[in-house]
Amino acid sequence: MHPDSATGPLVAALDIGGTKIAGALVDSEGRLVARALRPTPAGPDGDRVMGAVDEVLAELRAAQYWPAVVAVGIGSAGPVDAAQGTVSPVNVPGWREFPLVPRVSAAAGGLPVILTGDGVAMTAAEHWQGAARGYDNALCMVVSTGVGGGLVLGGALLPGPTGNAGHIGHISVDLDGDPCPCGSRGCVERIASGPNIARRAVEQGWRPAAGTEPTAAAVAASARAGDPVALASFDRAAQALAAGIAATATLVEIHVAVIGGGVSAAGPLLFDPLREHLSHYATLSFAAGVDVVPAKLGTDAGLVGAAAAAAQALQLFPTTA
Ligand SMILES: [Zn+2]
Repeated sequence: MHPDSATGPLVAALDIGGTKIAGALVDSEGRLVARALRPTPAGPDGDRVMGAVDEVLAELRAAQYWPAVVAVGIGSAGPVDAAQGTVSPVNVPGWREFPLVPRVSAAAGGLPVILTGDGVAMTAAEHWQGAARGYDNALCMVVSTGVGGGLVLGGALLPGPTGNAGHIGHISVDLDGDPCPCGSRGCVERIASGPNIARRAVEQGWRPAAGTEPTAAAVAASARAGDPVALASFDRAAQALAAGIAATATLVEIHVAVIGGGVSAAGPLLFDPLREHLSHYATLSFAAGVDVVPAKLGTDAGLVGAAAAAAQALQLFPTTA
């Protein structure tokens, strides 16, 4: 992509996950004017992973618009610690309290670096360019292999002291529920993530079509065909998400819940029961009537959001409608 112009200043954005490390130069209108991508090296060698980040940054530094870059924004799989500048992504075993911020700053010629969790970054993107645009109080969620999220309150992104605020996936909605890998019980993620939708269906006798894997997408296909076990598994996931959204609405008064990630592709199979359950959990006047809508930005949300979070933190350019 070689656009003829970019509206500056620019932010170099990094989206770091367990499978890929994406980079882009993002202009003040949210356009991606240069891109770079590397697979995330597997295994315990943290320096190899950093090597891939260095390659992405080197490619961005060679781009035409690099001289207009004034900061780097990173959205990373969590947990992150923005206060310490370190990351410990569950699915990047080579990085535990890895000093990502100073390493990236050095590789980017000393530019300021703003780190947030990927849920917060997705929220910044949806608020700037997507389904939460125009809302001053929003919860955005990613429902995928895990469940993450972030908050916009009073018109501003709320990353929290360490960049993890709004992590709705690990709020307990089932006090004596199944143990969650995080150490708690009955978390939203333990009930509503894609792998848990599939696991629950399998436990209750559902089987995927011959030759296909037991994924949430396969459960969704069966549910569309009317399979009662598949429908029940989606309904239970929707119920957990509704309880989490209701808790958030009651705690901080949100007006919209934006849901993205692979599981949200199930569409009405997820959203219809979710809205129904929400009407029973969010009952007080100030918590009722939350709009529940699908996310608008696709795979670029992490990059756009990492740039938006940096722009807001450093007051580079406005990222609200
Ligand atoms: Zn948990």
